Amino acid sequence: MARYTDAVCKKCRREGVKLFLKGTRCNSNKCAIDRRTYAPGQHGKNRIKLSEYGLQLRAKQRAKQYYGVSESQFRKYYEEAFRREGVTADILFEQLELRLDNVAYRMGVGTSRAESRQLVNYGMLEVNGKKVNIPSYICKVGDIIKVRDEKKNNKTIVSVLETNKLKAVPTWLNSDKDKNQVTVIRKPVRDDVDLEVQESLIVELYSKN
Ligand code: SF4
Repeated sequence: MARYTDAVCKKCRREGVKLFLKGTRCNSNKCAIDRRTYAPGQHGKNRIKLSEYGLQLRAKQRAKQYYGVSESQFRKYYEEAFRREGVTADILFEQLELRLDNVAYRMGVGTSRAESRQLVNYGMLEVNGKKVNIPSYICKVGDIIKVRDEKKNNKTIVSVLETNKLKAVPTWLNSDKDKNQVTVIRKPVRDDVDLEVQESLIVELYSKN
């Protein structure tokens, strides 16, 4: 995955929505999109009417950046969603939500998805009692995701859990804060995803290619 070296807040400003890429800063008055509501760049303040393709592309970019996955990963999730029986857009978001790095973020292990991914990489979590350090691991209904006992006193873990102690956990996860664990009690659905995006545009984009 190509490394993005520009200011991440520009991604939000480009998409015109909060993508929550910078942890606690996103909910503070330092959030760039709250202060500058226009797109970055020299022509950012000019309103440009997007073509149909442009709208589809922006919708896909918005979802991809929200979850922090690469183009090829995102396409893979789309192809899997398309192959499976059901509503393609719903299955696409189901897979993205069930990624271990996203579950870690939802349960408060990380203040942003990027930090959660790093903590998963560092082996902070276990799934059903076994260490899993693969951010793209797809959790299943019934899985128990927990901070490993040997890591519960790790400075970063203690700090992120404290920062996120009041964070609401989505209803598809059953949280036990005392044990630093969640259980997946059902598959997430599109309504569980707090991202403003017209998912039909993503499906239209990929169905053409
Ligand atoms: Fe986006 Fe967070 Fe930056 Fe605000 S602070 S623009 S939500 S990354």
